Amino acid sequence: MPKKLVKKLLSFIPGKPAVTAKKRYTLKVIPRDQHCISRKDISEPAKKVLNRLNNAGYDAYLVGGGVRDLLLGQHPKDFDIATNATPEEVNQLFRNSRLIGRRFRIVHVLFGREVIEVTTFRGGQVEQEETDTERAVNEHGHLVRDNVYGSKEEDALRRDFTVNALYYCIRDFTVHDYADGVRDLEARQLRLIGDPETRYREDPVRMLRAIRFAAKLDFAIAEESAAPIPELAGLLEHIPPARLFEEILKLFGAGYGEKTYVQMQHYGLFGALFPTTQAALDQGEEDDIIRQALRNTDERIHQGKSVTPYFLFAALLWPALKREWQRLEDNGEATYPALQLAAHRVIDRQVRSIAIPRRFSVPMKEIWEMQPRLTRRQGKRAEMLVEHPRFRAAYDFLLVREAAGEHTEGLGEWWTQYQQQNDGERRKMTSQVANDGQRRRRRRRKPRVDQ
Ligand code: ATP
Ligand code: MG
Repeated sequence: MPKKLVKKLLSFIPGKPAVTAKKRYTLKVIPRDQHCISRKDISEPAKKVLNRLNNAGYDAYLVGGGVRDLLLGQHPKDFDIATNATPEEVNQLFRNSRLIGRRFRIVHVLFGREVIEVTTFRGGQVEQEETDTERAVNEHGHLVRDNVYGSKEEDALRRDFTVNALYYCIRDFTVHDYADGVRDLEARQLRLIGDPETRYREDPVRMLRAIRFAAKLDFAIAEESAAPIPELAGLLEHIPPARLFEEILKLFGAGYGEKTYVQMQHYGLFGALFPTTQAALDQGEEDDIIRQALRNTDERIHQGKSVTPYFLFAALLWPALKREWQRLEDNGEATYPALQLAAHRVIDRQVRSIAIPRRFSVPMKEIWEMQPRLTRRQGKRAEMLVEHPRFRAAYDFLLVREAAGEHTEGLGEWWTQYQQQNDGERRKMTSQVANDGQRRRRRRRKPRVDQ
């Protein structure tokens, strides 16, 4: 039976609410003296874009995270602008701009390192427009193209959360609230606009966005917006892996990674993105290394330090790697070939969900491969290892493993000391390792091949 017909029939069943019933919102215009956004909080480039569009006769507003974060007294990460000018018109108005995107056609206006994202008001109802070539929904109900332009009101109601549908007008300094976003902002709630299930089906990434904003803003997810997530989490499997990679960087790179991870587990979203890690966790591996790495990452971000995605991915996939590595060793493979094969398999499976670029997967694999090498320190080995370009990351990873409770017989401490010593002391340390090794070998009757 066609989906639409099922929906229509369902809406006639007594006691069952009409699936397509629309909530009515009324626009509220909040004057300057009733909100805290001041022009000086908005970046010069964003103001330039707003003013030039307005002066050219178009309507342009600050929207999204920029308005939301300013109303919360926080520093926005970036400024997004919505306008009734088409992408081509915006592109013509700014020499320093470029048209990007297919699913959403948008314009990036570039000012040095700052990028102002300008989108044209979107409109129309997805169901009415399914045949339109500018808007298309695939077999899973996902929007794969969404370039139907509309009014500012339609644009507002097509946004994801009520707190993201607030518009700031630089002409009269008012804030336009279409979906009771200010009320939700005050109640510190994230609420999807419209029917949550439909909105998640249109774009399952909204489930991840819900978790990300809830963690970052310390908001609760409104009950009706949270309820469908566990059941729909699997829809993320249909999202292009390249988009998910970008989303993962935002999820874990905003300084609230550990909190985000806990919530992703709570809603069953983690397993949809990291199926092999989740399988390993379900079989008894611990996730302490993931949490420890995210905790360190959060700390670094709050201290203004840089973070490397390959380090984080090394931790996110470590439980899966460990399990596969162990399985291969149990089947008689030697340590190094087993590790290499396990790494290959884990990465191969993972990139089907999340496209980890090679510039990250190669160093991630190197970090893993260095782990057993860090235990072999005799002769010239330690000296050579410290010179290895990936030594620092591998050593940091070892410390994270230890902090997460893995037993390494004080290996991390040994390397910490080794790095602080002069050449003579270093030689003493390595010969000590050799002696200890000999003593241990004598004690064991059967000699072990590796580590
Ligand atoms: P931040 O930039 O701080 O991560 P943001 O809310 O600005 O948060 P962006 O990804 O920059 O998020 O998107 C800008 C705005 O575009 C959002 O506030 C929202 O209104 C709208 N938007 C973005 N992605 C979606 C989506 N998947 N579905 C519906 N609306 C979206
Ligand atoms: Mg933004």
